[in-house]
Parts: sequence; C-alpha cells; structure tokens
Amino acid sequence: MKRRRTIYEGKAKILYEGPEPGTLVQYFKDDTTAFDAKKRATIEGKGVLNNRISEYLMTQLNGIGVPTHFVRRLNMREQLIKEVEIIPLEVVVRNVAAGSLSTRLGIPEGQPLPRSIIEYYYKKDELHDPWVSEEHITAFGWASPQDLDDIVNLTIRINDFLSGLFLGVGIKLIDFKIEFGRLWENDFMRIVLADEISPDSCRLWDIATNEKMDKDRFRRDLGGVAEAYSEVARRLGILPESIQGETKGPVLVK
Ligand code: UDP
Repeated sequence: MKRRRTIYEGKAKILYEGPEPGTLVQYFKDDTTAFDAKKRATIEGKGVLNNRISEYLMTQLNGIGVPTHFVRRLNMREQLIKEVEIIPLEVVVRNVAAGSLSTRLGIPEGQPLPRSIIEYYYKKDELHDPWVSEEHITAFGWASPQDLDDIVNLTIRINDFLSGLFLGVGIKLIDFKIEFGRLWENDFMRIVLADEISPDSCRLWDIATNEKMDKDRFRRDLGGVAEAYSEVARRLGILPESIQGETKGPVLVK
C-alpha cells in the first residue's frame, strides 16, 4: 500500500493527505497528554471512541445547520474531513466553574456560572497557549472582527445544542474547547467547526453523581479513563461495532 503523506502530527491525532484535493484524513491516536505534555499515557481504545463520539456530535451539529469540517467516518480510527485553514485559537465555553477558571479566579469547582462564558487561548505551544482577549485577536490579525462574530454566534449555538443533547443522556456539559477553520470554496470563505469534540476536549459530569466522564480522569489520576469514555459513547447510543453489535440510539436517562 502506498504510504500516505503526513500533513501534521499532534498529541492525540494525525492528519494525512486526503484521497482528493481539499480533503484530509484525521486519525485518532490512543495517546493522551496533559499539563503541557509533561504527563503522557496510552489509553487503549480511546482513539476509536473519540473518532466515533466526534463523528456523532459533528453530524448532529451539521443537522442543525452548524457547518463543520467533517465529511464521513472512514474506519475505526479515521475520518475524512475538509481541509481548512485553522484559526489559531482555542475557544473555550464554560457553563460551570472548573479547571483553570477555578484556579485562576478562585471560583469553587462545580459552581454554576451566572451565564455561559466564552474564553480564547492563542494556540502556540512554545507560549503554552496563553489566555487572550478579542482585542489581541483582532489587533494581531489571528481573526477579523467578522470572523470573531461568526465564531461567537456558532459557539453559542454549539453550546446550547450540546448542553441539551448531553442533558438528555444524563450528562452535564461543564465546559469544552473547540476550534474553527476557514473553508475556502472558490472565492468564498466560511468559518466552520474543525478539530474534534470528545471527552478529551470537554468536561462531562454525570448528572446524578457528578462523576467525571472525561479527560480529568487522566489528568487527576482517577483511573477508568477508557471506561468513562465508553460510557459516554454508550449513553449517546454509538458504541463502535466491535463493542456493540448495533447502534441503538441515545439512552434516555430519567
Ligand atoms: N481543553 C482542551 N485542550 C486544551 C485546554 C483545555 O481541550 O489545550 C478543554 C478542557 O478539556 C476543558 C476546557 O477546555 O474541557 C477548559 O479547560 P481549562 O481552561 O479549565 O484548562 P485545564 O484545566 O484543562 O488545564
């Protein structure tokens, strides 16, 4: 088989050249890192679960008219995506205080926020992804005011939709990180949701017990990382074929 050209290799994913111009193949690894990659591990099966969970969430978002880079899943670990020009921002949405917000501002973890908050981090490993404001973003040209307007509007819709979707399966969406890209179609540019949405990039707490069902299980050495990710997939009704014979649709939690 012809070896594919690697376009980019990150900590948890690899991007390969796609089968046709304007496409890429996104491969989900089992590797995981935290704290600026100072903590590393391999979690067997994580890539398969994240591929499936991200496919499901992006497809649902597409269904309500949120444009995404996702085209289709190719196999257990790979999906076909549209090639976009990634905007160098991590857009974080918070509904409940946790993580860096709690440490930075002294707000107890688990405290609901008076309203959803959007934060931006400049994607630059050497600088450890610093917190930036809209002023920095537009002044340095990482995104135009029009791009940011689109990003905020899409982000609010994504948060509202995903909060409801997770609530329906007994999960609280505490916070999450998303990334956007510019998709060029002839001379026309659109901002689309890119990267992934998975338990690696969200905080997900069980509604009844507040048990963590996300990457904090790895960050905080709580164990049961793959089990928590597969429970998220199970509740969404999308366990991969090898684990569950058929997909059954979301599991309603009363
Ligand atoms: N997050 C992420 N990638 C990052 C930083 C954060 O996916 O490089 C996600 C994280 O999983 C959480 C949210 O963004 O759902 C907010 O993270 P926070 O700022 O609290 O940082 P952390 O505590 O993860 O360092």
